[in-house]
Amino acid sequence: MSGPPQRYERSDQLHRRASRHAPGGVHSNVRLAGQRIFFESADGPWLHSVDGDDYVDYLLGQGPNFLGHAPEPVVRAVHEASRKGVIFGGQHELEIEASELVCSTLRWPDMVRFCVSGTEAVQAAFRLARAVTGRTKIVRFEGHYHGWLDNVLTAPGDDGWGVASAGQLPSHLDDFVVLPWNDADRVAAALADDGERIAAVVMEPVMINAGVIEPLPGYLERVRELCTSHGVVLIFDEVLSGFRLGLDGAAGHYGVTPDLATYAKALAAGWPVAALAGRAELMERFGTGEVNHSGTFNGSVVATAAVKASLELLRADPPYAAIEEHGTALMAGIRELGQTYGVPLRAAGLPAAFHVSFGDADVVDYRTLQQLDLARYEDLAEALVDNGVWVAPRGVWYVSAAHGAVELDAALTRFGKALTEWT
Ligand code: PMP
Repeated sequence: MSGPPQRYERSDQLHRRASRHAPGGVHSNVRLAGQRIFFESADGPWLHSVDGDDYVDYLLGQGPNFLGHAPEPVVRAVHEASRKGVIFGGQHELEIEASELVCSTLRWPDMVRFCVSGTEAVQAAFRLARAVTGRTKIVRFEGHYHGWLDNVLTAPGDDGWGVASAGQLPSHLDDFVVLPWNDADRVAAALADDGERIAAVVMEPVMINAGVIEPLPGYLERVRELCTSHGVVLIFDEVLSGFRLGLDGAAGHYGVTPDLATYAKALAAGWPVAALAGRAELMERFGTGEVNHSGTFNGSVVATAAVKASLELLRADPPYAAIEEHGTALMAGIRELGQTYGVPLRAAGLPAAFHVSFGDADVVDYRTLQQLDLARYEDLAEALVDNGVWVAPRGVWYVSAAHGAVELDAALTRFGKALTEWT
């Protein structure tokens, strides 16, 4: 797939044009990283660029295309529903059906509130937790991503975890206690010290954003117990893990139930929908009007049609066994390529989302993740893209229900070619 230097000519032209009216030529800073290739279309697990190249897609739009691109039944449902109107500014039956489906699919929550992005769902969870407990502080963890707003965006610095962006108000981080993850003693100590002021503990129950690191055995259970005994709200940020690890997400997969959880991405097959779900005794506080949660686009006809169609598809034909098979084979194939090419390639995590890097370490949290050669993978990621494998420099690969034997073969062949050119 590598070609002459003019290979990205059309993309380059479009990038120059895009940059005139969109800063950096992109509409999300996440996309500043890596290649700025322009796409024309996508179907199933494939992306097609304006330069005439096809890419086997293991980024899945940062996760949402869990059913592959543009799954026909969801496209049809959204299309048909939107003919009757997109937003009513009043209630409609699809909202009820989508809410019922979310709660019955996840099994543990009683109620749900839809919104547009994962970032918003997290903020709604914080507000509700603070309202319910009358406390202000929130415990969070190194390397976990909870959106781009001032109170959640953080990066490690010389004085610990601080702001990650120019213009971000440092004071918005004041109420957050940042701990290493997967160390329940640290949570116990924080709650023992300051439990009276801690409203919530929030975490990705499997830290997908940084290294796809699973919780150590017993960790989630112990944090659950600690939260219960200190009257602290446990929030699982399942924006990535929800509906991906199984129909009932990480909560079901690990058998630990939070008080509140956020969902997005796989919830609606690519349509911009997120949700906050939780137990009735907490969620009802929105319904009384005591706690505000609003949004013009929340629960629109198109959003709820997408949720309904996506969850119906997932329930009718759960793709989890096939995804497990594909992800397991792909990880094994990548490791094997490492051996063939004499490079220490590491593929670890879950079959539905795994992390590729260089090195070998006992990785349990953000700090131990840094023992791997992450920069070297960033470099390889460019060669992968040049060879038709669409992945991000951060090293997280997502597997969809649409990936099959053809894609497995294409991905590994192309990965091998990338290594040949790159090593
Ligand atoms: N939480 C987690 C765990 C996420 O992975 C993300 C996005 N990657 C967010 C929150 C924010 O979601 P959004 O980009 O939809 O605002």
